[in-house]
Amino acid sequence: MTDGPVIIVGAGHAGFHIAAYLRQFGFKGRVYLINGEAHPPYQRPPLSKAYVNGSVGPESLLFRPASFYHEGSIDIIQGRVVAIDRPHRKLLLASGASFDYGHVVLATGARNRLLDLANADLPDVRYLRTLDESEALRSVLPSRKRVVIIGAGFIGLEFASVARDKGLEVEVIELAPRVMARAVTAEVSDYFQTGHREAGIRIHLGVHATSIEADGTKVTGVSLSDGRHLAACLIVVGVGVLPNIELAAEAGLPVASGVVVDEYLLTADPNISAIGDCALFTCSRFGDSLRLESVQNAMDQARCVAARLVGHKKPYDGQPWFWSDQGDSKLQIAGLITGYDQVVLRGTPARKAFSVFCYKAGKLVGIESVNRASDHIFGRRMLGIGRSLAPERAADENFDLNSVLA
Ligand SMILES: Cc1cc2nc3c(=O)[nH]c(=O)nc-3n(C[C@H](O)[C@H](O)[C@H](O)COP(=O)(O)OP(=O)(O)OC[C@H]3O[C@@H](n4cnc5c(N)ncnc54)[C@H](O)[C@@H]3O)c2cc1C
Repeated sequence: MTDGPVIIVGAGHAGFHIAAYLRQFGFKGRVYLINGEAHPPYQRPPLSKAYVNGSVGPESLLFRPASFYHEGSIDIIQGRVVAIDRPHRKLLLASGASFDYGHVVLATGARNRLLDLANADLPDVRYLRTLDESEALRSVLPSRKRVVIIGAGFIGLEFASVARDKGLEVEVIELAPRVMARAVTAEVSDYFQTGHREAGIRIHLGVHATSIEADGTKVTGVSLSDGRHLAACLIVVGVGVLPNIELAAEAGLPVASGVVVDEYLLTADPNISAIGDCALFTCSRFGDSLRLESVQNAMDQARCVAARLVGHKKPYDGQPWFWSDQGDSKLQIAGLITGYDQVVLRGTPARKAFSVFCYKAGKLVGIESVNRASDHIFGRRMLGIGRSLAPERAADENFDLNSVLA
């Protein structure tokens, strides 16, 4: 239980939700939500989907209207935190303001990994993480004809679908031998590679960008490591993110590939927690240290720390899930798609509706579903309670999955 004010650094998915959960769980102290962006707290997933595509407006991104913060006595402070004075329990903002804290929650998220090439700072070399970046892309799309996307991860491919839908010539380059290689099975990579290629997107695998060509300040193309050159008037870079760990590091807290926290999401300082994309947490479920970039992780970690701050201390035990919308295919993932040694297909990729059940030493560890929401829900429930399903049953479409849970 904490007695002094809770100050949340960062008003993204994790920061907003911990503020909301604290009030929902009856926390009576002051809650400050430090917002480093110029917009009220908003969600990122639509930025590479419905928002950049132009089908929804900015109001649909907001977690809650302004009245929510007022009615819930959540003080939103615009600005960036520049230092944590741990001995005096004070947070310092760039504006010079300082705040006393009882507990600090670092929800500082991550930032774009930048392309380290000449010309990468030209206006038409763009990224897609913030509302401003999505807004900028949305407004230039109608006037651009050829885009090269660097990186075939979730965000790069979601944007590729949107750009192709808008009639652009789209090329995607990727260093790995298959798309989304770090996060999905070869079966799911193959399905999306085929679908994107059928939609007219050209995907170049096993190559990287060696230079960006420009005519003055106008981008003209990208050269590849295999000697080819792709013409482009727009380049979108999606080569991953870097967690924002500097504030914690400068305050003397342990950091590695994230702010290091224990199974309760506490840093080495009992008055400072870290959650969401910035947190490298100890995970008993997977027996490892993990840093995840997902809505589920941000929300469940926010809930776990809010509960602790009102006196219900429990280790974090979230069950990962994720989704990505690309063209007419919705991919949903339950569990972590790593370390598996057997995969079983349920349904058929050719019919654009299938799931891949992943097993490690005979135990179900993850399910990827494409346009099969019911399999995904089943997977989340099964993995959540630590149960498995025999591979031959998973493969048998006549077997009713829900009978296992009944
Ligand atoms: C385009 C896009 C699409 C996505 N799609 C999906 C999806 O389909 N499904 C899914 O599960 N996940 C998706 N994600 C991932 C998901 O949005 C993130 O995992 C989630 O936003 C993480 O929340 P967070 O609060 O930890 O970090 P962030 O959302 O990055 O928020 C951190 C905030 O902290 C602020 N900040 C940092 N340092 C300071 C400081 N010193 N002072 C003040 N403020 C600071 C930052 O400016 C930022 O506003 C997507 C992400 C992006 C970018």
